[in-house]
Amino acid sequence: MNILVTGGAGFIGSNFVRYMLDKYKDYTIVNVDLLTYAGNLENLKDVENNPNYHFVKGDICNKELLSYLVKQFDIDVIVNFAAESHVDRSITQPHIFVKTNVFGTQTLLEVAHEQRVEKFVQISTDEVYGTLGEHGYFTETTPLAPNSPYSASKAAADLIVRSYFETFKLDVNITRCSNNYGPFQFPEKLIPLMISNALENQKLPVYGDGKNIRDWLHVNDHCSAVDLVIHYGQPGEIYNIGGHNERENIEVVELILEKLNKPKALIQFVTDRPGHDRRYAIDPAKIKEQLGWEPKYSFEKGIEETIQWYVDNKDWWRRVKSGEYQKYYQRQYGER
Ligand code: NAD
Repeated sequence: MNILVTGGAGFIGSNFVRYMLDKYKDYTIVNVDLLTYAGNLENLKDVENNPNYHFVKGDICNKELLSYLVKQFDIDVIVNFAAESHVDRSITQPHIFVKTNVFGTQTLLEVAHEQRVEKFVQISTDEVYGTLGEHGYFTETTPLAPNSPYSASKAAADLIVRSYFETFKLDVNITRCSNNYGPFQFPEKLIPLMISNALENQKLPVYGDGKNIRDWLHVNDHCSAVDLVIHYGQPGEIYNIGGHNERENIEVVELILEKLNKPKALIQFVTDRPGHDRRYAIDPAKIKEQLGWEPKYSFEKGIEETIQWYVDNKDWWRRVKSGEYQKYYQRQYGER
């Protein structure tokens, strides 16, 4: 199988590229990534010499390039991870989110349709469903009610993907996953931000009262779900992916401090994010029952391994946290 992976230099994409190259020795993986601030080829250093792996720096809005690559590599499947992915940035720069997440997805779909690609998998998010109260779960039929420019752009993309199935009969799937954690996550996201700040004895900025609930899934469990969807996903279907690991943000932050033996005094509550969703929780029954997916990581094991990875890879995140990222961080949370 020849797979075009977009956004493969980012957090989930790079873990997915590695997962697929490890598991399928005869597959070709072509990774197209624009290398924005979030894209980092260091994430894939260990596979860069694999003859089945090809990296191309490019924009998913560039139809000519995508058409050329699909033809050149005889692509069977497109998996679209490429996105602007950080909610806070979508509040300050929403237009980039619309461009990449909406226009980029539509461009890919057009290429997939024109070149008769066999399957198109859109990596979406549970955030398209909006927020939950204390009870209940997001299912695939929960109405879309996105609250941030990020989630709105992802929801818009999902609807365009759906339309290519209904109108053009393109074989599409949409996956909606809960919050991922694991190695190579950009340290603007909750878990790596808190681990790396704690390791440097810096303040840990926690939004609002810290009681927002996220449903955490190890990135490798996300990869195994996407793998199943590529091979067995039924045309036009949506699959929610989540491991029933609901945690309040403050609980996660305190756990990280405990594991690193750092004082709770490092926690600093900061003004809440506007439109901050209170609770996400995924019902993954469909993908479990229909595709036989099961997550392998417990949160306890996964978070311990992840903390250890950031302890062992300080050079990686120190490099990532310098430069452009630093300027953004100061705009977001002020001088620390
Ligand atoms: P990320 O920000 O770490 O990576 C995104 C990648 O896309 C980067 O490598 C970036 O360079 C690339 N990119 C951005 N714009 C591009 C463009 N125009 N053309 C080509 N490449 C471009 O994001 P992530 O956390 O790995 O998320 C990957 C996907 O999974 C996203 O679509 C996101 O919406 C979705 N998702 C993420 C989570 C999560 O918890 N991180 C949860 C559910 C769904």
